[in-house]
Amino acid sequence: MMDKYYDAVIVGAGTAGLQAALMLGRSRRRTLVLDGGAPRNAPAEHAHGLFTRDGAPPGELLQLGKRDLEAYPSVEVREGLVTGASGADGDFEVALDGGETVGARKLLISSGVVDVMPDVPGFAEAWGRGIHHCPYCHGWEVRDRPLAVLADGPMIMHRVTLIRNLSRDLVMLTDGSEISDEDREKLEILGVPLHEQKISRIEGDAEAGRLTGIVFEDGEALAREALFANPPQRQRSELAEMLGCEIEYVEMAKSYVISTNPMTQETTVKGVFAAGDAGRPMQSLPTAAYSGANAGAFMNYALASDDVALELATSIAS
Ligand SMILES: Cc1cc2nc3c(=O)[nH]c(=O)nc-3n(C[C@H](O)[C@H](O)[C@H](O)COP(=O)(O)OP(=O)(O)OC[C@H]3O[C@@H](n4cnc5c(N)ncnc54)[C@H](O)[C@@H]3O)c2cc1C
Repeated sequence: MMDKYYDAVIVGAGTAGLQAALMLGRSRRRTLVLDGGAPRNAPAEHAHGLFTRDGAPPGELLQLGKRDLEAYPSVEVREGLVTGASGADGDFEVALDGGETVGARKLLISSGVVDVMPDVPGFAEAWGRGIHHCPYCHGWEVRDRPLAVLADGPMIMHRVTLIRNLSRDLVMLTDGSEISDEDREKLEILGVPLHEQKISRIEGDAEAGRLTGIVFEDGEALAREALFANPPQRQRSELAEMLGCEIEYVEMAKSYVISTNPMTQETTVKGVFAAGDAGRPMQSLPTAAYSGANAGAFMNYALASDDVALELATSIAS
């Protein structure tokens, strides 16, 4: 027995989910937004690169997003972890922790991803403060400082190409993984020192959010002020798997993202949409807002199309 029925249920009230809810609220859709905790950028003090809000604390952005939704009475935002989902287009059943079940005609998975921290002491503590994943988010703040890049395979030259523009005091770390002769030669020509040893620990002042250096297993220590690294990712929720949505592995981003139609954000399961980091390898606040807006608009269009089709079918039949 379902407790309530909605036009749309949105799983995750991060940037993507809140932006989608705004589109649905403005379309008078009965929408439930459920949120189960912190967004991915919670470890960072400030969020950068977002139009009109450059440098805002991550929590403040979400508060503003939730405040915008207060103008739309058909939208309900609630804390609650979604633990399961089943059903088909037009009739989904969503289970919440605590035992409640709600129904939805359309579903949005905007539950984000988890960055899986490597087993290197000091890494998790420095994540989002002295270790960054994205040059657009926190590169400007460390411009011209002593930097390091940790990467492997095709990411080696990709990351060096990007981060060298921020600082020429740059070293490349491979943490024991193989590097091709071609890339080795390119780094030499570009004047980027290469350290291939395994990393033993990251040093810094976790409380102050500062990174001071990298220590290798052979004992060598390197003084650095910031490290750029992209640990592997997994989906934060298991809903896509539960519903049978196709998930693809993107090697460059070491990420498992839900396959979506790039225009509508609909997944391979009709009526289930995915937006934000969960459904895109290019992950940032502006791209989460963009894909959330697309998802919200096309969920509304799908709902409107279903209504019109039903009305036409009923009138033709009678
Ligand atoms: C350390 C760090 C710093 C970053 N800094 C920047 C920056 O400065 N600028 C920038 O553009 N990008 C930045 N990013 C990237 C940015 O955080 C993401 O691209 C963005 O948060 C994606 O938004 P989202 O809505 O898809 O996911 P999220 O923001 O991760 O939100 C997903 C939400 O879904 C909720 N959720 C998950 N599972 C469930 C469930 N089962 N039930 C209910 N709710 C659930 C989560 O609790 C979370 O609140 C940073 C990333 C990291 C890791």
